[in-house]
Amino acid sequence: MWGRQGAGRSWLGSLFASLPVVLGPIGSVVVFIILAAFEGSLCSFVTAVAKEGLYTIFAKYRPQLTARGVFAVAGWIGWQALLFQYLPGKIRTGQVTPAGHILAYRMNGLSAWFVTHLVWIALCWLGILDPAFIPRNWSGLVAAMNLGGVLVAAFAFVKAYASPTHPDDRKFSGSSIYDFYMGIEFNPRFGRDFDFKLFNNGHLGMMVWTLIDFSNMAYQYQTLGHVKPSLILLTILQTIYVLDFFVNEAWYLATIDIEHDHYGFYLAWGCICFLPTMYTIQAQYMGLYPTSPSSAYLTMVFAIGLAGYAVFRSVNNQKDRARRLGPGHQCYIWGKPAEFIVAPYTTSNGTQRTNLLLCSGWWGWSRHANYVGDLVFSYSTCALVGLGSGAVVWTYAIFMTILLVHRCKRDEKRLEGKYGDAWAEYCRRVPWRLVPGIW
Ligand code: NDP
Repeated sequence: MWGRQGAGRSWLGSLFASLPVVLGPIGSVVVFIILAAFEGSLCSFVTAVAKEGLYTIFAKYRPQLTARGVFAVAGWIGWQALLFQYLPGKIRTGQVTPAGHILAYRMNGLSAWFVTHLVWIALCWLGILDPAFIPRNWSGLVAAMNLGGVLVAAFAFVKAYASPTHPDDRKFSGSSIYDFYMGIEFNPRFGRDFDFKLFNNGHLGMMVWTLIDFSNMAYQYQTLGHVKPSLILLTILQTIYVLDFFVNEAWYLATIDIEHDHYGFYLAWGCICFLPTMYTIQAQYMGLYPTSPSSAYLTMVFAIGLAGYAVFRSVNNQKDRARRLGPGHQCYIWGKPAEFIVAPYTTSNGTQRTNLLLCSGWWGWSRHANYVGDLVFSYSTCALVGLGSGAVVWTYAIFMTILLVHRCKRDEKRLEGKYGDAWAEYCRRVPWRLVPGIW
C-alpha cells in the first residue's frame, strides 16, 4: 500500500491528492521570484501580489526558459547518465520487491561525485566555465529543470504502459492523474542495469546540491570579494550530508525511496527540480544577500547541526547493522546485545518471510529517531543564514518537517498492515514516534 491508496478512492480524492503536480512547480517559481525580485521577503511578495495580482507578478518576474538553461540541464542529465552507466562500482542487491524480484545496483555514486566536482573545478580553472555559472543563469535553469522534471515524469508514465521493466511490480490506482503523480512502475530501468530511481534520486538530485552551494560561494566571492563564514559553514554541513549519502549508497537501497516508492512525478520532478531549487534556498539567499551573524552564534548553530547529523547517521547505522547481523551476541548496541522482535509477513505472491524489528539503542528510544536527527540538522542549516532573514530561508526545514511527519504516518500505516501483531508489540515497547514525551 506504500505510496498510494489503491483503487477505490473517489476521483475528487485522487485529484486532491495529486495537487502537488500543479502546486510543486508553482511553488518553485514563487520561491524563485521572492529571491530574485523581492530580496527574499515573503511579505513584500504578498503585498505586491495583493496590489498587482498573481498573474502580473508571475508574468513580470517568472523564470525565463533559455537555450543556455535547457542545454545546461540536458547536458547535466546526459553527463550524469554516462557516469552512472560506465563508472565502476561494487554491485549490491536491493530488497525483494513485492512481486519477488531482487535487483542489482552498481554503487558508483561516490566516484561520480568526485569526478563531477573535479571536472567542474578543472573547467573553471581552465576558464571554460564561470564557477558562478549556476546563480548567474538561475532563471533559465529553474525554467529548464521544471520542464525537464515534467518531461521525465511523462516519459516514465508512458513507459509504464508501453514497455514496463517488471510488469508484475506495477501498481494502478484507477486514477491516471494520481498514477502520473506517484508513479506506476516500481523499478523502471533501461536494459538490465540503468535504474531510474537510483540515478534520479542520487545522481541527478543529491549530486547537484553541493555544486549549487559551491557555485553560490563563487558568486558571493565575485560580487563581495570574500565568502562569508555563514555560507562556508552551510556548505560544509550540506557537503557532509551529501557525501554521507554517497558513502552509504548501499544503505540507501533499504530506505523508503528505493524500497517502497514507485517512480512518477513525485520522484522525477522532485529530484530534477524540487531538490535543486528548494534544498539550496539558504545558499541562494546568501549568494544574493550575504549575511553576517556573530561568530558565537554561527559556532553554536554549526555544532547543533553536526550533532543532528551524528544522530541521523548513528540511528541509520544501528538499523543497518542490526538487520545485517541479526539476533545473537555479535550485534551489540550501546554496549548490550541488541533486542529484536521477530516480525513475520506475507508478500503479495503469498510467500512467508520474516524481518527483525530492532528495539535497542535509538530504535528503543523512539520509532523514527533518524528523522529527529535529520530535522535538527535541517533547522540548523536554515538558522545559519541568520535569524532575521525572513521566512523563505526556512523553507527547507519546514518542508522536511511536513515530509517526515507525513512519512511517519505513511510508514507506520504500511508497517501495521505488513507485520500486524509484531508491529503492535513494537509500538507497545517503543510508544513514541519522534521525541519521547512529545509525539
Ligand atoms: P527509515 O530508514 O527509517 O526506514 C523505514 C523502514 O525501516 C520501515 O519502512 C521498515 O521497513 C524499517 N523499520 C522500521 N522500524 C524498524 C525497526 N525498529 N527495526 C528495523 N527496521 C525498521 O526511513 P526513510 O527511508 O524514510 O529514511 C531514511 C533516511 O533518509 C532517514 O534518516 C531520513 O531522515 C532521510 N531522509 C531524507 C530526506 C531528504 O530529502 N533529505 C527525505 C527522506 C528521508 P521494512 O519494511 O523493511 O520493515
